[in-house]
Amino acid sequence: SSFVVGLTGGIGSGKSTVAGLFVEHGAALVDTDAIAHELTGPDGAAMAQLVAAFGPQVARPDGAMDRAAMRRLVFADPSAKAGLETILHPLIRQLSAERCRAATAPYVILAVPLLVESGSYRERCDRVLVVDCPESLQIERVVARNGMSPVEVEAIMATQASREQRLAVADDIVLNDGDLTGIYPQVIALHQKYLVLSAEKVK
Ligand code: ATP
Repeated sequence: SSFVVGLTGGIGSGKSTVAGLFVEHGAALVDTDAIAHELTGPDGAAMAQLVAAFGPQVARPDGAMDRAAMRRLVFADPSAKAGLETILHPLIRQLSAERCRAATAPYVILAVPLLVESGSYRERCDRVLVVDCPESLQIERVVARNGMSPVEVEAIMATQASREQRLAVADDIVLNDGDLTGIYPQVIALHQKYLVLSAEKVK
């Protein structure tokens, strides 16, 4: 597909939930988080480089990245995080671009949690769709889902763009501040709009 909708939002905003609804309507989904997991899964394409950079202790016996070991490394040496990203990010960028190109659906939802924070993904998107919700709800959902403490969730949110910064770059918004029935009609309306826009782009 040549029409790419970048989907983003803060932690716990509902990105995966909203992306799943677009897929039900026939959109293709390219998810950079899922790609990162593939690359670091059993014998993933990043594993040889990760082992070369950080040592065999970052690989589990099945060849997947040992996430706990990697967290310990990053905790002990914050520069390890940059090293990890230097290996993963180019691979994620390349693979996500290939999959967007190969998709045959009318348009692609390109899910990128840190889209607003990273210019290179924004450039590739025909539109930016932000899943928005009050910060109090983000915290509530992540606490309920992961059993994290509110303070831990707030610490992650502090490393991400603010709600205002995200809304400032949004072309479209799904407001996910209630139950699921609130987002269905919003997704349907945007799906119709993306079908029209993608057809116009092809012409
Ligand atoms: P993350 O950034 O942490 O990956 P996300 O933005 O992809 O999160 P989801 O995983 O879609 O967010 O949603 C976070 C949690 O909140 C999930 O447990 C999800 O089921 C729940 N949730 C999302 N939207 C709603 C809603 N409108 N009503 C009830 N629960 C919701």
